[in-house]
Amino acid sequence: MSENLNYKVLLYYQYVTIEDPEQFASEHLTFCKELGLKGRILVAAEGINGTVSGSIEQTNQYMEMMHNDPRFADMPFKIDDADKHAFKKMHVRPRQELVTFRLEDDVNPKEVTGNYLSPEEFYEAMLQEDTVVLDARNDYEFDLGHFRGAIRPDITTFRELPDWVRENKHQFEGKKILTYCTGGIRCEKFSGWLLEEGFEDVSQLHGGIVTYGKDPVVQGELWDGQCYVFDERIAVPVNQKEHVIVGRDYFDGEPCERYINCANPECNKQFLSSEENEHKYLRSCTDECRVHPRNLYIKEHELTEEEVQTRLQALEKEMSVN
Ligand SMILES: [Zn+2]
Repeated sequence: MSENLNYKVLLYYQYVTIEDPEQFASEHLTFCKELGLKGRILVAAEGINGTVSGSIEQTNQYMEMMHNDPRFADMPFKIDDADKHAFKKMHVRPRQELVTFRLEDDVNPKEVTGNYLSPEEFYEAMLQEDTVVLDARNDYEFDLGHFRGAIRPDITTFRELPDWVRENKHQFEGKKILTYCTGGIRCEKFSGWLLEEGFEDVSQLHGGIVTYGKDPVVQGELWDGQCYVFDERIAVPVNQKEHVIVGRDYFDGEPCERYINCANPECNKQFLSSEENEHKYLRSCTDECRVHPRNLYIKEHELTEEEVQTRLQALEKEMSVN
């Protein structure tokens, strides 16, 4: 452990009725700014979902204040140590839904949701036969790390998940479904939706991957890779017993856990790449992105047109050799 862990990152959510989300959001923003927190919080009529960072004192004060509000009195906080803020700004935004699951019929997890399994129960359940482990996250999250043997939905946003399940239901029919996500909030809805969809045996990892990694008994076992998080850290460790790298470099397929964004601002695709390949491929996912007039890599490195052409030709040559 490094010695300067004077910050904390909090991850939390609560499904609870919030009467006036707009007003709540604006007051909550003032409150968070006064405390000196940074992060991103969503507020909806159905509850709150947030990640914030701050000093130990600031985050302690925040948790205490929240727990003093009867609506959030029992709200669990997942707490990570950090050496600095994990965000640049503080946002609190009113939303229609806490997680964007655009369904014809939205699911209320307070009425229908899958069985809650503790990390130990989830671990035991994963080892049983007739069980499928279904990742409820997006493809780029799965690619950085996931439970060993889990099914990877081919989706880039959560709202695509219901259609994906309907198209792939032969993989789950008649089986016990175990589902999981980062902190548990997506599974509350998704597992409820699976039940409403007719799947009978549906369970969810209570507290999500983040809780699983901190559990003193399971210690993140059977997790491979790292956990994708939606803050500046991008990746956090889960498995305390072993670290198997499952991420693969977008360009050469070598083991890799380093995410970058495409230098074409109109593409901005997130992909795994070594530092070496980032330079070699001008931090761009395709040739089109490499020659985009607003390519940020070219701008940052002040490459002349001639230099760009030389590098593109070198790439072309290499690809024709391979
Ligand atoms: Zn691109």
